[in-house]
Amino acid sequence: MTGGARSPDLVDRAGTGDLHALRGRLTGGLVLPGDADWDDARRAWNLAVDQRPVAVALVESVEDVVKVVEFAGERGLRIAPQGTGHGASALAVLDGSILVKTSRLRGVEIDAGAARARIEAGALWEDVVVPAAEQGFVVLHGSSPDVGVVGYTLGGGMGWLARSRGLAANSVTAVELVTSEGRFVRLDSGNEPDLFWAVRGGGGSFGVVTAIELELYPTPELFAGAMFWPLERAGEVLRSWRGWAETVPHEVTSVGRILHFPPLPDVPEPMRGQSFVIVEAVFVGSEADGNALVAPLRELDPAADTFAAVEPTALQHLHMDPPQPVPGVGDGLFLERLPDEAIGAFVQNAVPPLISLEIRQLGGAMASSAQHHGAVGTLDAEYVMFAVGMAPNPEIAAAVHEAVDRVKAGLAPWESARTYFNFAERQVGGARLYPLKTYTFQRLRKIRATHDPAEMFVSNHPIPSAAVIDTARIASAPLFANLPTAELEELAGAMGEAEVDAGTEIITVDESGSTVYLIEAGEAEVIGAGGPSPMALGTGDTFGEIGLLLTEGKRTATVVARTPMQLLALSEPDFERIRQKIPEFERSLRSLGLERSSR
Ligand SMILES: Cc1cc2nc3c(=O)[nH]c(=O)nc-3n(C[C@H](O)[C@H](O)[C@H](O)COP(=O)(O)OP(=O)(O)OC[C@H]3O[C@@H](n4cnc5c(N)ncnc54)[C@H](O)[C@@H]3O)c2cc1C
Repeated sequence: MTGGARSPDLVDRAGTGDLHALRGRLTGGLVLPGDADWDDARRAWNLAVDQRPVAVALVESVEDVVKVVEFAGERGLRIAPQGTGHGASALAVLDGSILVKTSRLRGVEIDAGAARARIEAGALWEDVVVPAAEQGFVVLHGSSPDVGVVGYTLGGGMGWLARSRGLAANSVTAVELVTSEGRFVRLDSGNEPDLFWAVRGGGGSFGVVTAIELELYPTPELFAGAMFWPLERAGEVLRSWRGWAETVPHEVTSVGRILHFPPLPDVPEPMRGQSFVIVEAVFVGSEADGNALVAPLRELDPAADTFAAVEPTALQHLHMDPPQPVPGVGDGLFLERLPDEAIGAFVQNAVPPLISLEIRQLGGAMASSAQHHGAVGTLDAEYVMFAVGMAPNPEIAAAVHEAVDRVKAGLAPWESARTYFNFAERQVGGARLYPLKTYTFQRLRKIRATHDPAEMFVSNHPIPSAAVIDTARIASAPLFANLPTAELEELAGAMGEAEVDAGTEIITVDESGSTVYLIEAGEAEVIGAGGPSPMALGTGDTFGEIGLLLTEGKRTATVVARTPMQLLALSEPDFERIRQKIPEFERSLRSLGLERSSR
């Protein structure tokens, strides 16, 4: 997509001998194919993922990370940072990549006076939750104790306190990171604010994080638990839960789910091999108030009920996530709404080989932008769904994949255009991870272009580096030849900003609402190295992003092609077709609550 993407050819030049030289320079380990511990080293938490990098660096210090990054930079290799491999299924093929595992960096320092924790990159949530609780604090961890703090937080991080306290990414006070140039930086609101903004929701595209600093919250009273009903009551219970969830205060974060417990020895006897519909919830408040809040759920006469006042460390186990690595295939989506029909579709498709299907209520603090937030300010849907099954071999993996697809297809009428970074277990176009009406994705791409233009870092959901289109290339098209420099620069700035699925109507509106991109098809001229040449754009073509710059009623239209990222100039008939679309375009703007700007 970008001119700077690394070619696998470059990798061959690195040679194994060279990698052996790197091994000698690290205090941690470097494991290569053929080494006795190769399979252990390359294994991800998700055992269904077969990771085949050129080497695995088991870094033990910032210096190790710097050396690996410098080495990769000199040889055109890529770097895939990984804490645990919980998010490994969405990672690209690791050809030509060094997998940088941070699992040996698990130090955690709690500064009770400042209510901050400094957490090294390989720490798991349980490494933080326990010492924080001992000092009277809670952290914004998720459902599983062995998920990595860094991977979870860079993707947003939605946990049991999310409706009351927001996303983990917005509780980050500083990030220590090694850039693609091998520079070690501490990012905070005063130092490299753009990069600091980008990593808090933009994922692992911007550098190797070596440590993260998080805000701690004084431990509140907590009331939490789960209620279980027989699976046959799934529709009725989930409808009641949805009705209840929509009345409770933001201090309640809850999940409605269907769980088919596998017939495995690790699963306790009463649950083993059984299926249930379950409501799990955490209430930040007293036991008495909690009991009053869950009373309507108790009226549904659950078969089991574990709700009680709990210690903060108990929240890690409430969701019953697997306590050790497992092979899994799953995926998620945001739901705009959860009407009865959506619950019906969910229940109908919640069958084995899927094991767990859950719907988490969003809203509360996740729906309003935290002050000084990062790239993921809010999650703006009402619910998020995630479905997963065990995938011990490729045949079962394929069956689970299909079952996940059936759940998603059943919920498609209520699906939001955006999807949740951390619950997307397949790679999605980065534009889908951020709200359409904001400039977030474009800003992330520009920051990537500044800090990692050649795309050294491999992330589970990569942010492509923005194409840098120089004004001379734009001016070489007759259409733009007479534009004043300021407008040429504006055009160059607008290029490469939108990346969307063909067929989508409104793509993005910048913060002032002045630029809207439409998908179109037609004839266009491609400006390539040799100058402009004609090209046809068809429906469903990967070409097809049209930016209309609204300049005083006169059209300056540009098309940005997705693959390869090039500037296309439209011919006069295309302008005419676009002009005819203006009323529709303005209606769409108004429906977004925006006025067309005149500049
Ligand atoms: C059982 C389970 C429970 C989960 N529960 C929740 C939940 O409650 N809420 C929620 O929001 N999500 C949840 N998730 C999703 C989880 O947050 C993501 O899978 C997340 O990416 C995991 O982070 P990790 O570091 O453990 O995984 P990894 O696979 O190690 O990392 C994922 C990505 O993060 C980036 N990354 C990791 N470390 C670094 C680093 N040092 N520097 C730069 N980039 C880095 C990389 O791009 C990497 O590809 C859950 C996942 C599972 C499997």
